[in-house]
Amino acid sequence: MKRLLIYMIIVIILFFLIPVIFTSRFEKIDEVISNKAFGKGIVDESYDYGKYKKIKLLHTDTGKVENVDLDKYLYNVVSAEMPVDYDIEALKAQATVARTYTLYKIINGSKHKNADICDDSGCCQAWISKDDRYKAWKTNKDEKWKKITEAVDSTKGKIITYKGKVINAFFHSNSGGKTERPLYVWGGEGYPYLKSVETSSEDSYEQYSSEVTMKKDEFIEKIKKEYKDFKIDFEEKDCIKIKSYTEGNRVKQIKIGNKVLSGVEVRTIFSLKSANFSIEIGKSNIKFKVIGYGHGVGLSQTGSNTLAKQGKSYVEIIKHFYSGVEVQSANY
Ligand SMILES: [Zn+2]
Repeated sequence: MKRLLIYMIIVIILFFLIPVIFTSRFEKIDEVISNKAFGKGIVDESYDYGKYKKIKLLHTDTGKVENVDLDKYLYNVVSAEMPVDYDIEALKAQATVARTYTLYKIINGSKHKNADICDDSGCCQAWISKDDRYKAWKTNKDEKWKKITEAVDSTKGKIITYKGKVINAFFHSNSGGKTERPLYVWGGEGYPYLKSVETSSEDSYEQYSSEVTMKKDEFIEKIKKEYKDFKIDFEEKDCIKIKSYTEGNRVKQIKIGNKVLSGVEVRTIFSLKSANFSIEIGKSNIKFKVIGYGHGVGLSQTGSNTLAKQGKSYVEIIKHFYSGVEVQSANY
């Protein structure tokens, strides 16, 4: 009888307890995987910012990896990414965004094998040496550098978080009036703080509008490089037709000849400044009229300057471009 009771207890343990242990374990693993896959930021919320004081920076021209202080690195990033004559609050927003962007890369895994981040704006984040920056500036060099360092130093340790986790702080030059959701640029969801938001006065900057014109032959050649079977008859009505737009007013899908391409793909093929474009078909030429500059996701640099000039603080600027975020002080 006693033995039977022991057996029964063992059976109960096997049936109930073990599945409970396994389930909770797998749920945890799932959570970690989904956080990584969707870039929700760090899994461990009690991280110590102090351990990120030094970062490994890859110089793409020489291939050398330099160990630099994070905040010193940010001087070179801010001075490369934003014109120094922008309002100080816009520069502070850029410094906070650059710090957050860097931390996100370190925490969520770098694109580079032996470095946290590189100096190429097309890959990670722009960077310019102080010497080169000074050479490019014509006047008041020390004063300008002081303004950059002030933007970084006065936001020391400030990072942008969403529900307590470091955000993937995308930024770009000019939104064309409305920012874009990452879904339409890279595909994939999982960034609730990257919504499409409107910003006024983006058209007052030179980055707002641009044009690219080419011969029809060149136009055909460029698409043929990607699609060998591409065909177009310019005599045909609607041979080029925008089929749909994204939430951020960019081209979502466009029919060109016998192909339907995404706006982002067309932007890449023709090196356009953004996917917000219209096309004019001339006698011998094709003209793209482009609005905005960059992928359009996250903070707009020119939009930040406008908001700063309207009297907004760097925290207000950040909260305009990233929905539902906080600017918080990390352990430093
Ligand atoms: Zn890189």
